[in-house]
Amino acid sequence: MILDQFKLDGKVAIVTGSNTGLGQGFCIALAEAGAKVLGVGRRDSEETLAKIGADKFSYMIADLGDVSCVNSIIQKAINTFGSVDILVNNAGIIRRDDSLNFGEKDWDEVMNVNLKTLFFLSQAAAKVMVERKKGGKIINVASMLSYQGGIRVPSYTSSKSAVKGLTMTLANEWAKYGINVNAIAPGYMVTNNTVNLRNDPDRNKAILERIPAGRWGTPDDIMGAGVFLASPASDYVNGFTMAVDGGWLAR
Ligand code: NAP
Repeated sequence: MILDQFKLDGKVAIVTGSNTGLGQGFCIALAEAGAKVLGVGRRDSEETLAKIGADKFSYMIADLGDVSCVNSIIQKAINTFGSVDILVNNAGIIRRDDSLNFGEKDWDEVMNVNLKTLFFLSQAAAKVMVERKKGGKIINVASMLSYQGGIRVPSYTSSKSAVKGLTMTLANEWAKYGINVNAIAPGYMVTNNTVNLRNDPDRNKAILERIPAGRWGTPDDIMGAGVFLASPASDYVNGFTMAVDGGWLAR
């Protein structure tokens, strides 16, 4: 039955940035679909734990700005839940400044979290998936700025455009192992990432006027796409960056 293909019973997922926002939404969605989920974040994920329960969710603290944490994350998932079948590279940061002034620190910190650790964590997860010969699902969180330039966000746009390209590269290399690598490009969502935009009346109005759905998205809006790309229902979907944007890119 088709709905059975969306079930994640017996699967183990890692979700980065699990304490809040879209990451918390991915954790809840994957757990509700049947997976055990290890959350990762630089702060505790107690709120997410309370929403899901300790039978299906555990978390660890790690600073994804430093790539040296990746093996300990994979090991923690194996020690806690027995395997790694799904990885959601959700954690990300944004820095805003005019490109004429943009500093090296704001460049490096964004690239490290959004791109470098995403790659090396994917690599570490894929090594386990290849060794176990059971395939796997990797979901990267991209952005509208994987498709568009944005304003005053040069490192963010660079990182998210690279995430879209890297998603295709990894899909090309790892499809033969039964590993699907895809990305979700959220539109404008109500999370900490967009506080400044939503607090700026002019930008808020301009953004809302352009969204065909007529509203900002919420973490609930990415849950269906997350479960789809994590489940056997998407076994023939590879290397694609799927917009969940209320129609923004269609304008
Ligand atoms: P958010 O609420 O700011 O969540 C970002 C998550 O990443 C938080 O859990 C954050 O932890 C974590 N994180 C950041 N740096 C980290 C580090 N060095 N180590 C460990 N964890 C770290 O924003 P969000 O909107 O849910 O963002 C989730 C993803 O969606 C990001 O990749 C973002 O770029 C992407 N996205 C968001 C939108 C949007 O409109 N909101 C649109 C397109 C793409 P802390 O809570 O400790 O900061």
